[in-house]
Amino acid sequence: MTTWIDGTVVENIHWHENLFSLKIEAPVPQFSAGQFMSLALDIDNERVARPYSLLSSPGQNPLEFFFYVASDGVLSNALVKLESGDKVLLKDKAQGFFILDEIPSARDLWMLGTGTGIAPYFSILGSEEVWQKYENVVLVEGVRSSKDLPYQDLIEKFSQEHPDNFTFQAFVSREDYPNAIRGRIPASLADGSLEEKVGLTLNPSDSQVMLCGNPDMVKDCVEMLKNRGFEKNLRRKPGQLTTENYW
Ligand SMILES: Cc1cc2nc3c(=O)[nH]c(=O)nc-3n(C[C@H](O)[C@H](O)[C@H](O)COP(=O)(O)OP(=O)(O)OC[C@H]3O[C@@H](n4cnc5c(N)ncnc54)[C@H](O)[C@@H]3O)c2cc1C
Repeated sequence: MTTWIDGTVVENIHWHENLFSLKIEAPVPQFSAGQFMSLALDIDNERVARPYSLLSSPGQNPLEFFFYVASDGVLSNALVKLESGDKVLLKDKAQGFFILDEIPSARDLWMLGTGTGIAPYFSILGSEEVWQKYENVVLVEGVRSSKDLPYQDLIEKFSQEHPDNFTFQAFVSREDYPNAIRGRIPASLADGSLEEKVGLTLNPSDSQVMLCGNPDMVKDCVEMLKNRGFEKNLRRKPGQLTTENYW
């Protein structure tokens, strides 16, 4: 039987009408950076639960999650209304294998995400291990418009703490934005524009690639990279591509 832990919302940050973050106090057991937890609310006498990546790093308090409000989405439309002091349920244990323990060592770690799919990367970037395991860490975020790019202060903090090892590259598909590439991540793997901008080459011997968020982005990038010799990272057969689909 599922055991649920009571959480208390300490802050709801409304970035814009369909993007928000919740900070939640909850006595959850230790987790690994990159894992997700099930959050739940009782809606019309029914418990509605969905998985959400932890954005906060292990040891950070309160826990933090980053949400998109899905049109007609049952749980996200209820979570967005929560205020400080409201209760939310969390499954007793974090889950998932989108964690560094599952990813082989390499020179470069590329973290590609769309929208809220960037959340597990913040958790990983806030832990020590990633900076010890990889020489270069590249965070790539694809969004529709620049207002979908919150957490720039956190990105700036990682840049300042690791000036020689960390690169952030945004993709904005619907408008021009300073320092962002206009377009989508998969197209940039085809035309080389991401690698040119970052100054590193993606190749199977030097690169590990994490992909998270929109399943179309994940699928298209995996296809593109497989054509360049990359393989899915499996426990029984280590490769270079580790994925997490949000739907
Ligand atoms: C491992 C895992 C981790 C996840 N982590 C997060 C997270 O950190 N933040 C988050 O917002 N969601 C995350 N999701 C998605 C989340 O579990 C729900 O699917 C989402 O909140 C919609 O639930 P809902 O009840 O509101 O909508 P539903 O009625 O369940 O509608 C689902 C539909 O909403 C759309 N959708 C779902 N998630 C997103 C999204 N993130 N961005 C854009 N469109 C989406 C898709 O079209 C999907 O078919 C994660 C999913 C998985 C499997």
